[in-house]
Amino acid sequence: MNDTAASVSGTTERDPKRGRKIVLIIVLSLLLAEIILVRFHPDTVAKLLRRNPSYPETIHQAFKPDPLFAPFPESVPGDWISTHPEPGQTFDQFVSGNWNRHGENGKDKLHIIPMGALRAGWKATLEPVREFVEAFFNMPLVIDRPLTDPERIFTSRINVNTNFPQLLTTDILKFLMENLSSDSYCTIAVTMLDLYPDDSWNFVFGQASLVGRVGVFSLFRYDPSFYGVNSDNAEKIIFRRTLQVLFHEMVHMFGVYHCVHFNCLMNGSNSMEETDSQPLFLCPVCLRKLHHLAKFNPETRYEKLKNLYEKSGLTEEAQWLEKRIAVLKKKQGL
Ligand SMILES: [Zn+2]
Ligand SMILES: [Zn+2]
Repeated sequence: MNDTAASVSGTTERDPKRGRKIVLIIVLSLLLAEIILVRFHPDTVAKLLRRNPSYPETIHQAFKPDPLFAPFPESVPGDWISTHPEPGQTFDQFVSGNWNRHGENGKDKLHIIPMGALRAGWKATLEPVREFVEAFFNMPLVIDRPLTDPERIFTSRINVNTNFPQLLTTDILKFLMENLSSDSYCTIAVTMLDLYPDDSWNFVFGQASLVGRVGVFSLFRYDPSFYGVNSDNAEKIIFRRTLQVLFHEMVHMFGVYHCVHFNCLMNGSNSMEETDSQPLFLCPVCLRKLHHLAKFNPETRYEKLKNLYEKSGLTEEAQWLEKRIAVLKKKQGL
């Protein structure tokens, strides 16, 4: 009946639609406002982020949530948070962890140790990796002499599913802790071999010791061909994944736990698919923690990273940073 009535008069036909649109807009606005109020409510944010009165306002602006930071994703069966329920870590909890200060006792460099043979493509990316890591952490990166024959040094096994050798991560972490350079703030070993943390696990992408400030990660499963996918973008995909795991593991070594507050580089991951869905940037809470130790200028850091992403063809990341820089400039009235 309503359809017939609406079709009789052209004018009255448009009015209900306009009415419905207005109602829809109001409902959506209220929902959005509620989401923003709940997620970005000053009390919630204050609990996660503590203002430092000695910082200029421009620095605080970089830690203010804005819509460019998506919420923590809805959990799906089998993802990290459904299998590893973690409470997250507020800024105060992070500070009370009393992690080593940037540069203290001469420990002012990040280290990478290539372990075993690296694929030719990856060797060529070592220099770009250095530039990215140095911009991300505001610290120099040393690429150490490669460690040959890791299978002879560390406990290994053949994975029954892949028939490829795997190295035991705990052995590697112990070795790294015992052989730390005196200037190492943290040291990461990188290998093309697969890894496992314990006999009961099938594999692990990487593992880090927050206390020992050492970590190891594997590129074995980062090549799309491992999953039977032939991609023209394989090198770019591997490079993005390499940056992501390096940033993620190194941020852990600054004492930052997994993030449950936003969609963030520091979210935990159970699969390559979950990792690929996560961003290469830190949410305001994790950025605030890293800044506490690494003391960078947030905007300058964003600028440096944006230029590097542009140079490497990682356009999505470059565009996100461009938007963030614009937000910061707007807040400063520039
Ligand atoms: Zn992690
Ligand atoms: Zn975060």
